[in-house]
Amino acid sequence: MAIETRTVITVRNPATGELIGEAPVTSKAEVYASLERARTAQLSWGAMTARERCRSLKTFRKKLVANADELSSLIMRESGKPRHEALLAEVFPLVDLMHYFARRAPQVLRPQAIRLHLAKHRRSYLHYRPKGVVGIIAPWNFPLAIAVGEAIMAIIAGNAAIIKPSEVTPLSALKAKVLWDESGLPADLFLVLPGGPDVGKALIEAKVDHVSFTGSVAAGRQVAAACGERLIPCTLELGGKAPAIVCADANLERTARALVWGAFMNSGQVCAAVERVYVMRQCHDRLVELIVAIARELRQGDPAGQEVDVGAMTFAKQLVVASEQIADALAQGAKVALGGVPVTDSGMFFPPTVLVGVTQQMRVMREETFGPLLPIMAVESEAEALSLANDSQLGLCAYVFTKEVTKGLRLAEDIAAGTVMVNDVVASHAFPETPWGGIKASGLGRTHSDLGLLDLVQVRHVNYPLIPLPRELWWYPYRETLYRLGLTLMKRFFG
Ligand code: NAD
Repeated sequence: MAIETRTVITVRNPATGELIGEAPVTSKAEVYASLERARTAQLSWGAMTARERCRSLKTFRKKLVANADELSSLIMRESGKPRHEALLAEVFPLVDLMHYFARRAPQVLRPQAIRLHLAKHRRSYLHYRPKGVVGIIAPWNFPLAIAVGEAIMAIIAGNAAIIKPSEVTPLSALKAKVLWDESGLPADLFLVLPGGPDVGKALIEAKVDHVSFTGSVAAGRQVAAACGERLIPCTLELGGKAPAIVCADANLERTARALVWGAFMNSGQVCAAVERVYVMRQCHDRLVELIVAIARELRQGDPAGQEVDVGAMTFAKQLVVASEQIADALAQGAKVALGGVPVTDSGMFFPPTVLVGVTQQMRVMREETFGPLLPIMAVESEAEALSLANDSQLGLCAYVFTKEVTKGLRLAEDIAAGTVMVNDVVASHAFPETPWGGIKASGLGRTHSDLGLLDLVQVRHVNYPLIPLPRELWWYPYRETLYRLGLTLMKRFFG
């Protein structure tokens, strides 16, 4: 008898190298079978009202809250991030997103009337139906908040969700699946299929009804092409290279604290991380001094059992990218003001690194780092800063620091990015009411907010008569009188 051999993913704690768990790699046949099961489960779920669905989901939210500490520990061990970040940037925003949409979704998803400005004897309205099964292909940097957050939005909209977690960090989503099943909700409505890119490809090939992809630009292009071939709608949340513009009037102490957090939280492995700073020349030296002083105080190490500010890198490749970008910058005349050398004796650590004397041509200013590098460049004017900020293929997030909010808003509106924050960084991903998504190569579509929810439903339009007429004006037979009437009306209304 042939014995089925299953490949497994082994997951190691990046801070210690310790083996912390395994996940089976999903076979292609299992992907197809899971999709069928999810389709069946979705039928009765999608027939419920949004209010009923949100009410049912409360049990899962309570499970997440009750297990928040355990979940945060698992995220910490799986990703190497500090426990504070696991709780405050993953579990808390996920639970808050569920709480927010429980009230908001029934309003957003109720039918919307449309008044017609010409055909006043008829009315229109929009109503929304779930798309079916949403495939979520997730990255490793926020293994719970992104994977499960996207799934929850899809489920609130009436869909079933199948998560393909990152092969680097599958355990957090698998733990969420255990909690889902324990909360008594339909098991096949929320499925987690671990595996590598092949499992993501199989989900698309099996023809889910929408793909919500978060990951690199390169993989995003492949996903978009595969979806395009099958006409599957997709949302793409891709890479970033967020600039921060520091105006001469900015509160430099506050700005320095914000930039240090925005560059080094999650060891810089954040799509919205501050990855390049353009500061007015007269403030440059003081800002660098403050940033170096604050960053020097950050405590880095294995986050288990001790309070640290910066943990380990999650993914080994990022240490190589960061090191290569530093080498390229140094070769072209940049200087390291802090950090710069990875520490890999017992885990994968990259110290918070500040680079000065950088130029726009260096790789560190042009390519996504996804690691704890903060390159700082002096500029002569806000106009120059704006032009450099916009000189990028990517456009996910950007930041402006100034005491003059009106000026901040003006600059913010001129930066080509999906989100611009004035006097803060990164945090808006945790505001569920605001849209999240990029422009240029940073992605397509939006998640979170009303826009994100509406991306997960079919928008259907119905048009009906308010006053029944014997016949509509535009029907056959065509007569000269109709032509004349058309001309007269056009001249009267639009001439
Ligand atoms: P990645 O592109 O390597 O992988 C992301 C996911 O896609 C993984 O689950 C992977 O298995 C899967 N995958 C890869 N190729 C695929 C293919 N051809 N078909 C189907 N699935 C495929 O990205 P990563 O290294 O996990 O994550 C880091 C990247 O994610 C960074 O570029 C970062 O900026 C981006 N990111 C973006 C956001 C955002 O909201 N815009 C959020 C987090 C991360």
